[in-house]
Amino acid sequence: MLTIQSVQDWMVKANEYMQENKAYLTELDQAIGDSDHGINMSRGFQEVVKKLEQSSYDDVSAMLKDVAMTLMSKVGGASGPLYGTAFLKLSMAVKGKETVDKDDIAAGLDAAAQGVQQRGKSTTGEKTMVDVWAPIVTWWKEQDEIDAADLEKKAKEAMESTKPMKATKGRASYLKEKSVGHIDPGAASSYYIFKSLAEILA
Ligand code: ADP
Ligand code: MG
Repeated sequence: MLTIQSVQDWMVKANEYMQENKAYLTELDQAIGDSDHGINMSRGFQEVVKKLEQSSYDDVSAMLKDVAMTLMSKVGGASGPLYGTAFLKLSMAVKGKETVDKDDIAAGLDAAAQGVQQRGKSTTGEKTMVDVWAPIVTWWKEQDEIDAADLEKKAKEAMESTKPMKATKGRASYLKEKSVGHIDPGAASSYYIFKSLAEILA
């Protein structure tokens, strides 16, 4: 299900969404953070696409590792190391696999979600990107096969679920009750990552 070509397409699409929604992500971070999430994500994914275009890879794992390293060094903020960790765990989970199927991706996304939680000392219900990654992993494991439209819908619902939450991790947690009523910026960028994944799987 994942090939070198499809991972490249995934990142190209993700980058398109980050560029198109740069102002929206900034707006979300303006409400409950420091207004840099759009800038961080658009810069990071632009660099990812550049890096992948300049390089050639023997397998999906090696490509995902470069995605991770680039996000880690170019996104910045709290989200850079977290996204870097997510893609590094995903890369490690599919290492040595000639084909990466639905169950391999499940294991990879699971490792990624757990990696984010370890690195961020966070869990679900804290109004972060974890509230998108964790439910997607649970849902993914329950499916016999992945329906792209359902994946997109699930990710969107997960993003929207952060709106009524009170932030207890990251910069938004400084606002306490005032963080309620806004979608978490990292949950929104994670939604674009899964929306792009859904599109390349379709
Ligand atoms: P910063 O908060 O340093 O400005 P960004 O604006 O790029 O970084 O990213 C903010 C996003 O990072 C939040 O919306 C949230 O989803 C995510 N985040 C922040 N801290 C954590 C954490 N401890 N665990 C999981 N995700 C986090
Ligand atoms: Mg920010």
